[in-house]
Amino acid sequence: MKTVRLPDGTEVPALGQGTWHMGERRADRRAEADALRLGLDLGLTLIDTAEMYGEGGAEEVVGEAIAGRPRESVFLVSKVYPHNATRRAMPAACERSLRRLRVETLDLYLLHWRGAAPLAETVAAFEALKRQGKIRRWGVSNLDVADLEELGAALARCATDQVLYNLSARGIEFDLLPFCRARGMPVMAYSPLGQGGRMLRDRALAAVAARHGATPAQIALAWALRAPGGVIAIPKAADPAHVRENAAAAAIVLTPQDLAELDAAFPPPKRKRPLAML
Ligand code: NDP
Repeated sequence: MKTVRLPDGTEVPALGQGTWHMGERRADRRAEADALRLGLDLGLTLIDTAEMYGEGGAEEVVGEAIAGRPRESVFLVSKVYPHNATRRAMPAACERSLRRLRVETLDLYLLHWRGAAPLAETVAAFEALKRQGKIRRWGVSNLDVADLEELGAALARCATDQVLYNLSARGIEFDLLPFCRARGMPVMAYSPLGQGGRMLRDRALAAVAARHGATPAQIALAWALRAPGGVIAIPKAADPAHVRENAAAAAIVLTPQDLAELDAAFPPPKRKRPLAML
């Protein structure tokens, strides 16, 4: 599996697994945990979750999926609600996530999006959890360049910014992506498959996929990972056939012709756009 280096030197897989909408229905939980386990076996060992997903249900599914595996064999990412991103509320929110995940420490804890809490206070709360060994590192999500700049000196300790990035949402290529790359900080691309919607039915994408004997979803993932070193993609898949496809996508190398055709169908940004988010 291709890897990406975090600012502290840790290598993580460039392709992980998302969990939004998992843990919402009790009847689906077993199948969802099975899908995550299949992904782990295929090298998708970074799992992204959040206290928000299924109001804790997704974290419980992840806990089920990783139970019995060596803790170091998985890189666990979870996210704190903005209303819990304070000195007062974060320790308990983190503790609840750890309990649902059945682990002692998170590999990465992210601010889900910016809310009312001052960023400096959120950073102080993250740093306190890090000193206590509850989290190994922290990062942010849905923050645009101006918000990252506001982190000041703390930006050097921020592991990633998790943002919307796929063929039909390329705004970050104008400024956020180069900004992060210049600082050796990878971006985590969420919804890399456009949530399985219209993007995957595009004709140009289908043509590139046909040339590679691949599916449009696989080309969308290979495209997100095309830049050396800078992007981690976290597709969510509960269907085992999807998990297998996604795991194989990391090995696909797109040609200059593929990239030109995809640029024509999904043009890169020509000017600054506000950061898009779901
Ligand atoms: P994705 O772009 O990952 O798309 C998921 C959808 O695509 C599901 O319906 C899935 O179906 C389908 N799918 C998966 N693999 C394939 C495939 N090979 N072929 C066709 N369809 C496929 O959307 P998400 O919004 O879930 O984003 C991924 C993850 O990013 C989230 O799960 C979450 O962890 C994170 N995220 C973070 C956000 C943030 O604010 N920080 C916001 C949004 C997402 P099925 O499940 O049936 O296999």
